[in-house]
Amino acid sequence: MNTGLITVCYIGAAILFILSLGGLSRQETAQRGNLFGTIGMALAILATIMGAGVTSLGLLIPAVLVGAAIGWVLAVRVEMTGMPELVAILHSFVGLAATLVGVASYLDPTAHFASSAEKSIHEVEIFLGVFIGALTFTGSIIAFGKLRGSISGKPLMLPGRHLLNIAGIVASLVLGAMFIGNEMPQGALPELLMMSAIAGLIGIHLVMAIGGADMPVVVSMLNSYSGWAAAATGFMLSNDLLIVTGALVGSSGAILSYIMCRAMNRSFISVILGGFGTGSGTTSTAEAPQGEVVAISAEETAQALADAKEVIMVPGYGMAVAQAQGVISEITRRLRAKGVKVRFAIHPVAGRLPGHMNVLLAEAKVPYDIVLEMDEINEDFPETDVVLVVGANDIVNPSAQDDPGSPIAGMPVLEVWKARTVVVFKRSMATGYAGVDNPLFFKENTRMLFGDAKKSVDAILSHLPA
Ligand code: NDP
Repeated sequence: MNTGLITVCYIGAAILFILSLGGLSRQETAQRGNLFGTIGMALAILATIMGAGVTSLGLLIPAVLVGAAIGWVLAVRVEMTGMPELVAILHSFVGLAATLVGVASYLDPTAHFASSAEKSIHEVEIFLGVFIGALTFTGSIIAFGKLRGSISGKPLMLPGRHLLNIAGIVASLVLGAMFIGNEMPQGALPELLMMSAIAGLIGIHLVMAIGGADMPVVVSMLNSYSGWAAAATGFMLSNDLLIVTGALVGSSGAILSYIMCRAMNRSFISVILGGFGTGSGTTSTAEAPQGEVVAISAEETAQALADAKEVIMVPGYGMAVAQAQGVISEITRRLRAKGVKVRFAIHPVAGRLPGHMNVLLAEAKVPYDIVLEMDEINEDFPETDVVLVVGANDIVNPSAQDDPGSPIAGMPVLEVWKARTVVVFKRSMATGYAGVDNPLFFKENTRMLFGDAKKSVDAILSHLPA
């Protein structure tokens, strides 16, 4: 393929990626956005394979086919509840790729530069790509472990942890200066490898220090880092499309992190520095919640729903685990057919992935216009007869407002306790992801419907007239 055609393909792919991001910003257009992204990526891969830089198609094509097959199987098999882990591990691949490309680019025997300035610029690109890549690689693996539950969600608070991070960054900068100043061809490989090891340790330490409730921001932040790592790789390889794509991923991830920080009333810096979640050093002023827990049966819940005029459903992670969304959609349809006003309240960090609940509800064909964001619906709880909290916990925890010492103090929550009756669907009295006790369960107007959410909604449906 000639250079002109490749450039046209690259521009086409870049436009498709931008259209894809635009499409993904709204549920109604998300499928189209996804399609644009897929076509853009296919075009980009094709143009890269056909480009002059590729000399060994015999090696590349089998590698691409094996990678595509693994990706296909993983994507088909993954449950919605496993998506955050999959996304985290995919970020780690981007980080690893950036690190390996950086090292390979440094060792490339064919590389030659017109001037020493050009060589230095190339080395800065390598340094940045390897640093961000290694940090993203290890940080994403820790995030993967935390999201999976194989690593505790509790923040790891090493003594002098900020100093440790600063020392790591200073050591990396010193090694970077030695790396860039080295005149010997490939002579600074040890410095490069040492710097990548230190960046890897910083990545582990940064994410280990972040508590459960901040994980949504961490996931989108690692997404952003993976974009910048890809952009740095684009500079190393002089690949414009990789630079554009990396910058798109990097900046959209940064914007998403900012939006999530705002939604959780947290400053970006304090998230990065860690400690939010359990055992953050803050002391809760409240005792462990006490009082009577009142259980309710599915039949009684169905009766309360049938008698209600206004109902709000609050889905959370447990709904995704139980896969209860389809039956909830059917309950909604039946109640609406009876003239009950039913709406859904979506907290920005409900579930384990930005937009997690919206995707599940869209999949279950819940009409978009009754699915509302927290800010659009939070004031309506006092006029609501029944709220169903389906597998949600942290996002409806009143201690975020009432207890200044709570690890989630200040995080905006859905004020479900202001409704006439709140029914909480869960299997036990266990805490949610942030590991914080929830006084909601002990409030006078709260009823607990214990059991797997899918079984509970099935039972409710069986008591509602078709
Ligand atoms: P939580 O994790 O706070 O609570 C989920 C609740 O669901 C649990 O208390 C659990 O209780 C219940 N549950 C689990 N399985 C079932 C089941 N089969 N049937 C019924 N109930 C079940 O989830 P929320 O959605 O309220 O809050 C999200 C949390 O995740 C926040 O802390 C957020 O910061 C964090 N997070 C969010 C991310 C995002 O991007 N959205 C990313 C990473 C973390 P029990 O075990 O008793 O059944």
